[in-house]
Amino acid sequence: MALFRFFSNDVAIDLGTANTLIWVKGKGVVLNEPTIVAFDRSNKHIIAIGHDAQAMLGKTHKDIKIIRPLRDGAIADFEIAEGMLRAFIRKVSMTWQPARRVVVCVPSGITEVEKRAVRDSCEHAGAKEVHLIAEPMASAIGIGLNVHEPIGNMIVDIGGGTTEIAVIALSGIVSSESIRIAGDEMTNSIVQYFRRNHNILIGDRTAEMIKCSVGSAFPMKEEIQIEVKGRDLVSGIPKMIEVSSSDIRSALSEAVIEIVNAVLRLLEITPPELAADIYDRGIMLSGGGALLKGLDERLRRETKLPVHVAEDPLTSVVRGTGKVLENLNDYRSVLIKSTRY
Ligand code: ADP
Ligand code: MG
Repeated sequence: MALFRFFSNDVAIDLGTANTLIWVKGKGVVLNEPTIVAFDRSNKHIIAIGHDAQAMLGKTHKDIKIIRPLRDGAIADFEIAEGMLRAFIRKVSMTWQPARRVVVCVPSGITEVEKRAVRDSCEHAGAKEVHLIAEPMASAIGIGLNVHEPIGNMIVDIGGGTTEIAVIALSGIVSSESIRIAGDEMTNSIVQYFRRNHNILIGDRTAEMIKCSVGSAFPMKEEIQIEVKGRDLVSGIPKMIEVSSSDIRSALSEAVIEIVNAVLRLLEITPPELAADIYDRGIMLSGGGALLKGLDERLRRETKLPVHVAEDPLTSVVRGTGKVLENLNDYRSVLIKSTRY
């Protein structure tokens, strides 16, 4: 049927620790959901994925478990992660035909076993051809950099579980570093800050909201006061307190310093010719963590280099992965080499 030709099932997937995004060939981004899965504890059957699973958080009974299977950029529970990936692929499939060609973006630090697990899951979902691409490479392509040039580019992608920093030139990753300090760690340090300094317990969602709305890495033009509700750890009664954006900045400072230091470490080992390119072009920030207020300014001060935040940093990886899918022949050299054969 001619009609089916419009419904391509080739997909590009950004399998992030916080969010999974899927690009369908010829259509663009069709799915953007949290990387969360709810399953039945007794038989490991998947009950819900993405938004649906997120809505169940904190409201489950003992038979249902909810996990973020890629929490630290590595696949904690293969079986569940595989089921989730298959369910996501099924969700975007337009026809009865399974996805034929799949390009998946994975954290650059994942192990051979994990790469194998990702390949296998896609194959079990019906893919005939599976390609993997490293996260900073996909991000660079999504940002629109020409990764084939003999020119060095530095990418810093700050996701939920990991921050990936890489220098890219000539279609390859020259040097990279992946640290397990990123958005989740920032959220967690806000929870800890309230516990230690105000004896009040706040939920992860509240902490995340505070981070995104008033969190910062550099003094703001105008510091603001916010009201925060939680449970008093002494009396057990709900309580409200007022804190300022500079308090939140101090809570985030340890995580920010770790990211800054990782960038400085990678700059230190960058070969001089590439360092000269980075001096001219600066550093590109992507991933949700790039949206932290003042992070670009902070990095600018610490590195004395130009720092740019990608346009729509939460989707740069999936857009890059999608571009690779759409133009596979131009981008074969940037894919992770398969060690299977
Ligand atoms: P991953 O690639 O690991 O799935 P993402 O690139 O999707 O991660 O980024 C998710 C992270 O970005 C989360 O930790 C989220 O809290 C964080 N984030 C999103 N928006 C903001 C914001 N405005 N300020 C600070 N952090 C943000
Ligand atoms: Mg990511």
